[in-house]
Amino acid sequence: MTAVGTSTSAVGAVTEAATLDGALDLQPAVESRPSGGLRWAVRPNGSPASEADRAAVFADPGFGRHFTDNMATAAWTADRGWHDALIGPLRPFQLSPASAVLHYSQSIFEGLKAYRHADGSVHLFRPEANAARFARSARRLALPELPVEDFLSSLTELVRTEIAWVPGGGETSLYLRPLMFGDEAFLGVRPSRSAQYSVIASPAGSYFTRGPVPVSLWVAEHYSRAAPGGTGAAKTGGNYAASLLPQQEAVANGCDQVVFLDAVEHRWIEELGGMNVFVVRADGTVVTPPLTGAILEGVTRDAILAFAGELGYTPVEQPIALDDLRADVRSGRVLEVFACGTAAVVTPVGRIVQAGLEDLVVGTGSGPVTAAPPVTSAIRTGLLDLQYGRRPDPVGWLRQVA
Ligand SMILES: *Cc1c(COP(=O)(O)O)cnc(C)c1O
Repeated sequence: MTAVGTSTSAVGAVTEAATLDGALDLQPAVESRPSGGLRWAVRPNGSPASEADRAAVFADPGFGRHFTDNMATAAWTADRGWHDALIGPLRPFQLSPASAVLHYSQSIFEGLKAYRHADGSVHLFRPEANAARFARSARRLALPELPVEDFLSSLTELVRTEIAWVPGGGETSLYLRPLMFGDEAFLGVRPSRSAQYSVIASPAGSYFTRGPVPVSLWVAEHYSRAAPGGTGAAKTGGNYAASLLPQQEAVANGCDQVVFLDAVEHRWIEELGGMNVFVVRADGTVVTPPLTGAILEGVTRDAILAFAGELGYTPVEQPIALDDLRADVRSGRVLEVFACGTAAVVTPVGRIVQAGLEDLVVGTGSGPVTAAPPVTSAIRTGLLDLQYGRRPDPVGWLRQVA
């Protein structure tokens, strides 16, 4: 039995003009928005992990180390659209060495969590926002768009199949990682005419092994994560590839994470390799840089902007110059800095380190014994309470899946 999709997408179909000579013709021949309606055939793994195996994983899940028994997969071709939607056993991909993704990095991904509430029910947090971002990332990488409805149903079906893998208690969750890549075996430079979509799931404890303990940031002076007109706003592996060498430099300098500045003036704070940044001012504002096209539009960032008011703070989107931040921390105008993202939730920043300059100590400082400062703590707790159903959800951000 094969699931049949009703989508008739031809996004990604291109003219024959693109050749090995490098003649680029990136104009889609047909532009159409797929309508959705994939049905997921569910044929789960016949020999899933035992309860004892799962218990062993839950005892020390870490982040992204263990995967559940099943995955979602769907295929796309320019002539058939999306098809073969399946929830089936976790398996390796078979790829031609000529596959587009291995050469020209046509790939995107998402990250969100399924949360178990105290009553045993399981919920996703704003999955529509991830679906919309996945579609935007696909557009930027010239991949086919997966309809929002199909993205959501893939998550729902996979989580329902893997319900025993959703841990409960503490800050645990089932981390969901949707991904898509171009797999056409062709070395010419043009969008792949076939693609694979997949969702894998991984039980998660806390992202940072040391928990919500303040981290130190290394200022990347000679590297950029993203440039104007580039792919900074798309969730694509290439941005991460570009961040790994600076991240190594950070670790070599005794820091936990890199903070990237804008690529033009090297003056404006953008974000970390995989998290957005906020500063907390003494006047009660919580400030994050506006979306310039080089910053990834985090769902966590957006949620904090939306509910900071409820907690008594004033959310502001405003450019933050590193020089000003230094002066404002020293003068007491800025009290706290934190980073945010789905995986790590809200993480306090305790120290900002830059070559040739004195370390900037923020909040309660970084290190194993210091705790998160008050506003960062309040925002972190407020967000977790919402995600775990301990606080009312007036906006309808939670989507119950089981
Ligand atoms: C995913 C990601 C974030 C955080 O986004 P969330 O939706 O909050 O998880 C921030 N920056 C980058 C570069 C990312 O890839």
